[in-house]
Amino acid sequence: MRIDLHTHSSASDGTDTPGDLVREAAAAGLDVVALTDHDATSGWDEAQRAADEVGIVLVPGLEISTVFHHRGVHLLGYLPDPAYPPLTAALDRILAGRTERTPAMVAALREHGIDITEDDVRRESGGSVAAGRPHVADALVRMGVVADRTQAFDELLNPGRPGYRSRWAAELEDMVPLLVAAGGVPVIAHPWGRGGRTVLDVDALASLRDLGLAGIEVDHQDHPPEVRARLREVAADLDLVVTGSSDHHGLGKVDHDLGVNTTDPGQYERLMSLARR
Ligand code: AMP
Ligand code: FE
Ligand code: FE
Ligand code: ZN
Repeated sequence: MRIDLHTHSSASDGTDTPGDLVREAAAAGLDVVALTDHDATSGWDEAQRAADEVGIVLVPGLEISTVFHHRGVHLLGYLPDPAYPPLTAALDRILAGRTERTPAMVAALREHGIDITEDDVRRESGGSVAAGRPHVADALVRMGVVADRTQAFDELLNPGRPGYRSRWAAELEDMVPLLVAAGGVPVIAHPWGRGGRTVLDVDALASLRDLGLAGIEVDHQDHPPEVRARLREVAADLDLVVTGSSDHHGLGKVDHDLGVNTTDPGQYERLMSLARR
C-alpha cells in the first residue's frame, strides 16, 4: 500500500487541478493520497469525485500557516470538519492576510523596477483562494524576469529580498487544539526543514503533543537522511506518528514527484483512528 499524505492543487499553489492531482496520484500507483492545500479546503469536493472515479482513497486535509516563537510553521490537518466555525474563522483571517499581502508585494517589486501588476498575479492565482508568493513567482516567470519559482524566491521573494512582505498567520499553539476540536488530526509539516529545528526542538514538540499534536512529517524532501533519522527517534520517544509525503506542487516544485516519500500503512492507520469523522 502506497500512501502520500501531503500534496497541493490549484486550490492553493499547486499547478494541477484537484481532480487532475488525484488522477495523477492513481496513475503514479498510490493507494491513498491526502490533498493538503494551504489554508483552504475548497479543492476537497472535486478531489473526492475524482477519487471515486479512479478508485483511490482521498484523505481531505489542509496545511495551515501558523507561527511559533515568531517563526512560520506549517501545520497539516487531516479530516477536520471544514464547517467548524472556529476553523473557518481562522482560515478566513489567514486568507485575508494573503489577499492583503499581494498588492504590497506588487508595490515592492514595482519599487524595485519590475513592471508587474496585480492583474499579472491574479492571472496566475486564478482558481486559488490562497494567493501567495508562488503565484507572484509564476507571474515573474511569465514576464521573463526569472527562469523559475526557485530563482524568484532566491532573488526576490524570500525574507530579506526586495519583494518579500510578511502576512498574518495563526498561533501554532492555538491551531493544534483547534484542529482536534474540529475532529481533525494535526501533524507538523517538515518540522526541521528550512531552519525549523531552532524553534521546534524536542521540548517544544513534547508540549505540542500535550496540546493534541498527533504526528510529525519525517520523510520530506527538506529533511536530509540524518535529520530523518533523528526525527524518527524523537517521534518514538514522544509517541508521535511518523508520516512521509511528497509535498507535491505539480510543476511548481522540482524533486517533489507524487510518492517520492510515503507513509507506513501502520502509521497511517494510527492517524485515521484519531480522526473523529
Ligand atoms: P506563501 O505561503 O505565499 O508565503 O509562500 C510560501 C510557499 O511558497 C510555500 O508553501 C512553498 O510552496 C513555496 N515555496 C517556498 N520556497 C520555494 C522555492 N524556493 N521554490 C518553489 N516554491 C517555493
Ligand atoms: Fe506551497
Ligand atoms: Fe509546507
Ligand atoms: Zn506543503
